[in-house]
Amino acid sequence: MNRFLALLLIFFISGSDICAWGFFAHRRINRLAIFSLPPEMIGFFKANIQFITENAINPDRRRYAVMGEAEKHFIDADNYGDSAVYKLPRYWPQALESFTKEELRQHGIGPWNAYHVKIQLTEAFKKKDTKAILRLAADLGHYIADINVPLHTTKNYNGQLTGQNGIHAFWESRVPELLSDDFDFFVGQAEYLPSPQLTAWQAVINAHAALDSVLNFERILSEKFPDDKKYSFEERGGINTRVYSKPFTIAYNEMLNGQIERQMQNSIKMIADFWYTAWVDAGQPDLNSLLKSPIEGMKETFDPKEQLEIREHEGLSSTDPQNETRRSFVRSMWSASPPKTTE
Ligand SMILES: [Zn+2]
Repeated sequence: MNRFLALLLIFFISGSDICAWGFFAHRRINRLAIFSLPPEMIGFFKANIQFITENAINPDRRRYAVMGEAEKHFIDADNYGDSAVYKLPRYWPQALESFTKEELRQHGIGPWNAYHVKIQLTEAFKKKDTKAILRLAADLGHYIADINVPLHTTKNYNGQLTGQNGIHAFWESRVPELLSDDFDFFVGQAEYLPSPQLTAWQAVINAHAALDSVLNFERILSEKFPDDKKYSFEERGGINTRVYSKPFTIAYNEMLNGQIERQMQNSIKMIADFWYTAWVDAGQPDLNSLLKSPIEGMKETFDPKEQLEIREHEGLSSTDPQNETRRSFVRSMWSASPPKTTE
């Protein structure tokens, strides 16, 4: 297939289907975080805004190609019992004292991983390693945004345990794509985080607290909207696809009373805070000096022959045969044709 056409199709199809926060929201969140940075940082990040924006979705692409990637995006906190978000060991070495690595990885390592990437970013700043700074900053933005998503904190991640299959992409893709142009994204200046690992856990705590509304309001509205009003059809990538209707999406967002907007705002602010904290912890290196040398060889490629069987957060593995066709199409396209970067 023509490579350009393949890329186009990927963006049409995958926007709401194969990733956390959706590609659209991840890109927007990473991009907006740049504008909260202090003067010493903003020049470097603005000069690389296209890279930070486009590569916001790299970690989701990597899930299918790199062993150990998928579990970095979530934590099934409720797998560990009631109030686990408050009780789980905050730091990775402590967690390993209570659980095996396999157990932890199986149920997701989102907050521990976010802190680990922050430490890596600090090291990259110390070395003034432009490529590493950009790659890790884009990745970190993705991971921070993911742990702000309520459905990334539960084993009922796609409503599959409560008969609400599809709610994952509905909350994090459909609503932002349809409605986030009207959201207020002013979040103020980045602030230093004295304990970034605890901040990552606070994101999980807040996201998990929002989970009841995410599920309950969809259920309540579903009783008011018969199926032919709840869903409509849109063409995506040449495939007639069932989506949540506009009226249902608007009603859900209103009932959530700004929750999705707030979680996007929290993600943006927290990403800026993490970037800023990594830079301060590195001794505030002069980033403007890095702008002199052009960056090359930044494209991340994946081996299309090796596709991992991973947990599909977004419901493409439901019993709907149409989904199966679309899933294999998206996955084959995905690993064969990574999106372009600003190399
Ligand atoms: Zn993700």
